[in-house]
Amino acid sequence: MSRIDPFDVAIVGAGIAGTALGAHLARRGLSVCVLEAEPQPGYHATGRSAAFWLESYGGAAVLPLSRASRDFLDQPPANFSARGFLRPRGAIHLARGGGEDAFAALPAEATTEPLDPDRLAALIPGLRPEWRHGVAEPSCREIDVAGLHQAYRASLVRAGGRIECNAELVAARQAGGGWAIRLADGRELRAARLINAAGAWADRVAERCGLAPLGMAPKRRTMVQLRVAGIEARRLPLVSAIDGSFYFRGEGAHSVWLSPHDEVDSPPCDAAPEELAVATAIDRLEAVVDWTIEAVERKWAGLRTFAPDRVPVIGADPDCPSFFWYAGQGGTGIQTQPAAAALARALFLGEPPAGIAAGIDPAPFAPSRLR
Ligand SMILES: Cc1cc2nc3c(=O)[nH]c(=O)nc-3n(C[C@H](O)[C@H](O)[C@H](O)COP(=O)(O)OP(=O)(O)OC[C@H]3O[C@@H](n4cnc5c(N)ncnc54)[C@H](O)[C@@H]3O)c2cc1C
Repeated sequence: MSRIDPFDVAIVGAGIAGTALGAHLARRGLSVCVLEAEPQPGYHATGRSAAFWLESYGGAAVLPLSRASRDFLDQPPANFSARGFLRPRGAIHLARGGGEDAFAALPAEATTEPLDPDRLAALIPGLRPEWRHGVAEPSCREIDVAGLHQAYRASLVRAGGRIECNAELVAARQAGGGWAIRLADGRELRAARLINAAGAWADRVAERCGLAPLGMAPKRRTMVQLRVAGIEARRLPLVSAIDGSFYFRGEGAHSVWLSPHDEVDSPPCDAAPEELAVATAIDRLEAVVDWTIEAVERKWAGLRTFAPDRVPVIGADPDCPSFFWYAGQGGTGIQTQPAAAALARALFLGEPPAGIAAGIDPAPFAPSRLR
């Protein structure tokens, strides 16, 4: 049975979470090995997102992470990336006549401005007249997710870290003050500490390590790319129903990305879109705009994984200090990543949150709240 060298840290999962935290720790001089079950990193949630940064999204506990990440995403340090990862998009929260009271649920801290019906109609061509109420969130941006994930992987590798693909952790036990980890192909690995960044599989990984789960729930979300006629879609903002029934945004000259904003409980798996969800999404779009839909160009689904209180889980397991949770990133794991990873680094190293995570209270994220 072949062995891999002992590491200071083994990280399970090479999505955006595992690679970002791995890059931070490798840059601090720790030897890091990121284990990824799939043949390539980013195959699951990270490769399937809607790719937007929206300050009001994700709830009050997440907002400080989103906000603190914004400047890094826009203008990252030169030693991380020569270019930024954000592009202008803008967002509009939309309501039918009578539904406008729901705008009160937008977090007061987010920068929003009301739109009158004429302005709304100008921004969303073909908008049906019953959708009369809109609130703009101009700071919304599109994120180059693939570019960001690649930059974290490059940063990790430059700092001497390693990413092992086709490396599924199937079991791990505490041994000799660290972890003895067994992979699906029979290889073994030793690491002083273990980080669980396994996305939808976070609870399963904990159980494979002999620890109790925290109740992490993967939920399927469907996305559809439609070709539409008669409008210039490229500049369409992110348009999101305030009642949570859909969102869509421009993608290319004649295409839009659309989601029915579904959230269906799922076991951890290679999520696939269901026809009913695709049909529901199209029905809802047709009730909002009068566009001609020419084709479904692409459809996909991914799992957004939530703790029971929908707040990310960042910190050491209360029953096992050498096992660190970095999971439950829900629907905001891309837009929060720079600050969340900086916070996770501080907690992992036992330091006060610094840099872009300075001032962020780690308490709401503690795994102990869930046991
Ligand atoms: C449809 C959709 C739209 C979204 N839109 C946005 C958005 O607009 N903005 C935003 O900020 N966020 C968005 N998100 C959320 C974002 O994509 C996630 O929060 C983020 O990608 C989570 O990253 P992760 O690294 O935790 O998980 P993942 O990317 O799923 O990575 C976890 C990895 O762990 C690996 N793994 C699991 N078990 C093992 C094991 N035993 N051994 C080895 N490896 C293992 C998996 O193979 C996987 O690659 C969206 C998500 C979806 C699904």
